Amino acid sequence: MPQTLPVPDTRATPKDLPAIDRLLRQPAVAALIAEHGHTLVAGEARALLEALRARARVGELPAAEVGGDALARALAARVDARLAPRMRAVINLTGTVLHTNLGRAVLAEAALGHLLATMAGPNNLEYDLAGGGRGDRDSLVEGLLCELTGAEAATVVNNNAAAVLLTIAALAAGREVIVSRGELVEIGGSFRMPDVMASAGATLVEVGTTNRTHAHDYERAIGPRSALLMKVHTSNYAVQGFTAAVDEAELARIAHAHALPVATDLGSGALVDMTAWGLPREPTPQDKIAAGCDVVTFSGDKLLGGPQAGLIVGRRDAIERIRRFPLKRALRVGKLPLAALEATLRLYLRPERLAQELPTLRLLTRPLDAIRAQAQALQPALQAALAPRFTVEGVELLGQIGSGSLPVERLPSAGLAIAPAAKKGAGRALEALAAALRALPRPVIGRIADDRLLLDLRALEDADCAVFSMQLGQLGQRID
Ligand SMILES: *Cc1c(COP(=O)(O)O)cnc(C)c1O
Repeated sequence: MPQTLPVPDTRATPKDLPAIDRLLRQPAVAALIAEHGHTLVAGEARALLEALRARARVGELPAAEVGGDALARALAARVDARLAPRMRAVINLTGTVLHTNLGRAVLAEAALGHLLATMAGPNNLEYDLAGGGRGDRDSLVEGLLCELTGAEAATVVNNNAAAVLLTIAALAAGREVIVSRGELVEIGGSFRMPDVMASAGATLVEVGTTNRTHAHDYERAIGPRSALLMKVHTSNYAVQGFTAAVDEAELARIAHAHALPVATDLGSGALVDMTAWGLPREPTPQDKIAAGCDVVTFSGDKLLGGPQAGLIVGRRDAIERIRRFPLKRALRVGKLPLAALEATLRLYLRPERLAQELPTLRLLTRPLDAIRAQAQALQPALQAALAPRFTVEGVELLGQIGSGSLPVERLPSAGLAIAPAAKKGAGRALEALAAALRALPRPVIGRIADDRLLLDLRALEDADCAVFSMQLGQLGQRID
């Protein structure tokens, strides 16, 4: 064993730290102030000196952190960190295309362009350019929504949860809403149908059983306090086996015979028939309008592929009541999502080009062969970056659409599986690797399963793929 040399005393004491004014006068710090102003730099300088002083008092501050230009560099790093945005672009290799935690649908280029074109200055958000007076923000997209869904009228709010809340409040506050026990869904913990009903001031009347609900269940529940019959798409689970449900067409017949409206919450709701691209069938608003629903609600940022928004389409009288309800003002859509929504909806006017221009559909329809080829192309460089600690191999994977679309359907996909070379400490090695991927300038999010870190490449488009490749060198350094 080589003898360790005694370490010379290299600890700083509190009196080695400069007063704040002296630090601020250092030329490198003066340059920081010239760039960012006094307030931010002085605030960070104070916090830095305080933290260093605390460590110096207990003898834990290396002198190297105080000498030379170390303080100025530490201060510059703090200022950079304060100014760095918390919302960051990431690379989604989770295998879930519409990942709620990763911002759901990726906006189309047309939507981004429209945002830039309309948001840098004033726009006609609520201004009628033809008449020169006050306009209605709904009118910017109502025509498109009606054309695309076959509805008579449409309105837009902040998100689909708001759309459901507003619909129930406007059509049924103080009265009863009849819903099947098989459709009392919870979405993401905080949105639960019975709680939404209560928030909207309506009384939930449950009918049928978890697995079977019949027309006569609804009919028997209708009484003088009934206001609305409602269906909810079971977006994040499936009731399978011995089941029965009443579809919207039959429900509409029952409701209309009693002069009551029917609303259906589609959750995701695709504006086109997804089977045209070989994807599983997802109900469309146009089907539900044709079936006789008075109100159909769905999200803007799920399969539709646009911004967060809640779309409400249906019969003119029902939509008018919803639009006039006071809560509408509190739940209204902002001008940014509205601009992005308009541009996204316009893409649907050219369905032949949709799979190219709408990122959500483009990702969902990527040919498996192309994803496999991408995995093969990336494997050697990733292996080189992670050797010898990990082995990397191309694998077949099963992804999903996500955001409560088709919960039991899996999307065949491909990607890379990374396994620790050593069995011992494999779990910790994988966690450390996942953390290193998340710490990259463009964080990469995969998933750990069966003692491997899986990178599903379905959502890795060319631009992100180039960024991913460029970061591999840094990744190699981070895990060493
Ligand atoms: C996702 C979903 C919602 C909530 O939609 P947001 O746009 O996330 O507010 C409501 N109902 C159903 C059935 C859903 O799937």
